[in-house]
Amino acid sequence: MSDQKYSGEEFNEFVKELIENKRLNGSKEEGIAKLVIDKGFESLTDKQKFVFEESISHYVFGDCKRCGLEIPWSEMSGAEDNGGLCSWCQQLGRNDKD
Ligand SMILES: [Zn+2]
Repeated sequence: MSDQKYSGEEFNEFVKELIENKRLNGSKEEGIAKLVIDKGFESLTDKQKFVFEESISHYVFGDCKRCGLEIPWSEMSGAEDNGGLCSWCQQLGRNDKD
């Protein structure tokens, strides 16, 4: 997870989803998340970065549990549903069951 950048369109979409679905801990966390979308993660103070990382940590999966590849932000909400797999491995898992 440590190498994954908190930036880019896919990341912003991911954060937006968390805000819209009220999945962050509270208004302070939401405010910081909005700042991240508007100004970027790097513009936060160290304290804000800490709060932000804490608030999204539950929804972030680093590497796919099956193949070990980094899960892109665009697949993060899917990874939450399938227990931490990339979309490719999720597909394979489905095929196994058929
Ligand atoms: Zn995988």
